[in-house]
Amino acid sequence: MFCGRSSAEVPFLMEGIDACICSDCIKLAADYLKELEGASAGVAEKVDMDALLTPAQIKANLDQYVIGQDRAKRLLSVSVYNHYKRLSHNLDRKPEKDDVELEKSNILLVGPTGTGKTLLAKTIARMLNVPFAIVDATVLTEAGYVGEDVENILTRLLQEADYNLAKAERGIVFIDEIDKIARKSDNPSITRDVSGEGVQQALLKLLEGSVVNVPPKGGRKHPDQDFIHVNTQNILFICGGAFEGIERRIAQRLNTQVIGYGASERQRVDKNDLLRYVSAQDLRAYGLIPEIIGRLPVITHLDALDRDALLRILTEPKNAILKQYAKLFEMDGIKLSIEPGVRELIVDTSIKNKLGARGLRSICEKIFSDAMFEAPSFGKKTFKVTKAYAAERLKDEI
Ligand code: ADP
Repeated sequence: MFCGRSSAEVPFLMEGIDACICSDCIKLAADYLKELEGASAGVAEKVDMDALLTPAQIKANLDQYVIGQDRAKRLLSVSVYNHYKRLSHNLDRKPEKDDVELEKSNILLVGPTGTGKTLLAKTIARMLNVPFAIVDATVLTEAGYVGEDVENILTRLLQEADYNLAKAERGIVFIDEIDKIARKSDNPSITRDVSGEGVQQALLKLLEGSVVNVPPKGGRKHPDQDFIHVNTQNILFICGGAFEGIERRIAQRLNTQVIGYGASERQRVDKNDLLRYVSAQDLRAYGLIPEIIGRLPVITHLDALDRDALLRILTEPKNAILKQYAKLFEMDGIKLSIEPGVRELIVDTSIKNKLGARGLRSICEKIFSDAMFEAPSFGKKTFKVTKAYAAERLKDEI
């Protein structure tokens, strides 16, 4: 018997000359074959340049979901647009005639946590018809150590592409928390930095575009596993990180630079918005290796969200939090009305607890949960949330 079980333990048994195989094993093998075939098949479709969104259209689409962050949106829109141009050009390119090969420009988003880095990447993914994977850099370690190999990033992308290799090879990957794999110290030490510099080195070959052996099911590399060879040349990588404390390094650099230029230059630097000046040099000082920085040529920052931005986040985006609650009540036949002062109370509570945009949902949940419990048997057609009602529900928070 192929799997070692007895005939009584399996649903159906197929007998061969010298051996038997059960229906479970047949099914497993068939699935596996399908996966492998899917991975090796898949023809690269041509990119229809006419159907492409322009950078302005991409940005307009982002504007519907993400508040503020104009600079990052503009750069992202251009990068995504160029990504498509590159795909179209490189697919049609005849090396002997037209030798300009367009190289990709991976992107690095630097900004405090909860300012919309993941949201931007997710929104782009929804807009485009390419596979998209989000991975967290913190779980990655150098091959052979506890944690995930970097190749698993591509496994994720393959899964998103339903194992269509051609599709996956033009997808987008968002690597979150890239700052967490910064080099741990400047001095090479005796202990290996397996989750820092080691991972950066491993990531490098993905970012720079090469053929990578990817285990189709993820997990550790295994000698018996068939690899899928994924070419990362046309995969766009968007990295995001908070780079906490990098302002200090930016300030240091600006200070030393400024000395030669006199006081007027010094005044022009906005001390409250140092992130805006972030450069490759600062990232290097923070612990990213130069080769990685070289592969992330588009660096942009996201602004911390102020009170006004948080107020807008509550109501303006297409799927704004308060719109979602209104929809939930509407499904019970109840019209939700939010009185003046409630939005401000939600935002101020979030700011006070240092929760930023991430805190808005949980605060809303506290306000609405009792009402949602009662809503189906409410018997009323409207539900008015007054400031006093909201404050009563948040009294433990304030
Ligand atoms: P991070 O920058 O840490 O990746 P996220 O994108 O995950 O932050 O943001 C967390 C949540 O906060 C999002 O799901 C979204 O609801 C909200 N949010 C953050 N920034 C914005 C923004 N600029 N516009 C709209 N919503 C935002």
